[in-house]
Amino acid sequence: MTKTDRTPKNIAVIGATGSIGTQTLDIAARHPDLYRPLVLTAGSRVNELVELCRKHRPRLAVIADDRHYRELCSELQPLGIECAAGADAIAEAAALPEVDMTVTATVGYSGLLPTVKAITAGKDIALANKETLVVAGALIERLLNDSSSKIYPVDSEHSAIYQCLQGEDPAQVSRLIITASGGPFRTWERDRIAVARACDALRHPNWSMGAKITIDSATMMNKAFELIEARWLFGVGADRLSAVVHPQSIIHSMVEFADGGIKAQMGVPDMHLPIAYALGCAQRLPGAERSLGLADMASLTFEEPDTDRFPCLTLADMALRRSGNTACVINAANEVAVQAYLQNRIGFYDIYRIICETLDRCEYIAEPTLSDYVQTNQIARDIAGTMF
Ligand code: NDP
Ligand code: MG
Repeated sequence: MTKTDRTPKNIAVIGATGSIGTQTLDIAARHPDLYRPLVLTAGSRVNELVELCRKHRPRLAVIADDRHYRELCSELQPLGIECAAGADAIAEAAALPEVDMTVTATVGYSGLLPTVKAITAGKDIALANKETLVVAGALIERLLNDSSSKIYPVDSEHSAIYQCLQGEDPAQVSRLIITASGGPFRTWERDRIAVARACDALRHPNWSMGAKITIDSATMMNKAFELIEARWLFGVGADRLSAVVHPQSIIHSMVEFADGGIKAQMGVPDMHLPIAYALGCAQRLPGAERSLGLADMASLTFEEPDTDRFPCLTLADMALRRSGNTACVINAANEVAVQAYLQNRIGFYDIYRIICETLDRCEYIAEPTLSDYVQTNQIARDIAGTMF
């Protein structure tokens, strides 16, 4: 569906109660002439979803955990807001005919089915849920080829690359350089990291984000996922993808071209810009959160990532070389292990161990279908769950 310049774009915010979801709704509230939140969804935090619905007045609210369905209805139906529950209802909501753009701001594997549905229905996607491309990048690429839908990256690194590529010939790209903050343990010795607790890992130096991605940042699994995400978003193979640690998080990523020139996108570490750029289908919105004071920055520094202390980073290369359902297994085992780490049931390096052992025990599928991904995810989660 195309909209005239004067009609607000109807957005479905999948994962509205989270860090990206609430920032998306901030932007929509500041620009009611441009965006209308039509659908809001959450996992299980019904009170937060109700609160957001009272404020933003969507047409439909959906909660994944159906034990909260009655409460959702009793709070929202008197306001004329339709309610639904369950994972299937979220996937349906992502693809409603009136939706112009689906914002995938849910966390982990739960982003896959809503994104598949939305692409199949021809919706544009503002993609925050990187796990969708990690789990099933090849499938998503195929679906996009057969659809009018387009993906606009929300992840700050991929938004940066997208911005750097504007006006450039893709054939002239020699390398994508993804920056990494290095996370809370960047300067810690391995022995100290080994006994770090979740509360230490949750203290990210530069970004305020949901718990799962914050732990992924501490292990650098997040960077491995972002390399895989870049592979599918930009069609660039592992040999032309690299990660560099840049502790200040001012340069959000870079593109190197055939003539040796490098373009970088810079800004304060704040997700409002990449979210707004994706919502606007690569059009800029006025009203920056904060301007970057260049003279206030003492220096911009860069370091090679240390794969001895952060072994999860090596999994990107392995996943891209092996392809098939490998990254789906890695993602599933990581989700289970991160949850266990957050509950203080395992140590920091057990996350990497559990992923590797799960990979050893899962069947490899070279060309998975959607149902192969669904099954692989379940089998890998079951296997990983037996390891602690
Ligand atoms: P949060 O944990 O803050 O929010 C996750 C959202 O997803 C919540 O609305 C949550 O609902 C919902 N949710 C959780 N589990 C399920 C489920 N099983 N089914 C349906 N909905 C569910 O995550 P973030 O906002 O930090 O991250 C969202 C995505 O964006 C992730 O893929 C992350 O990697 C990516 N991203 C995030 C960035 C950030 O700055 N936060 C930066 C770049 C990428 P409830 O509140 O009820 O639990
Ligand atoms: Mg990122």
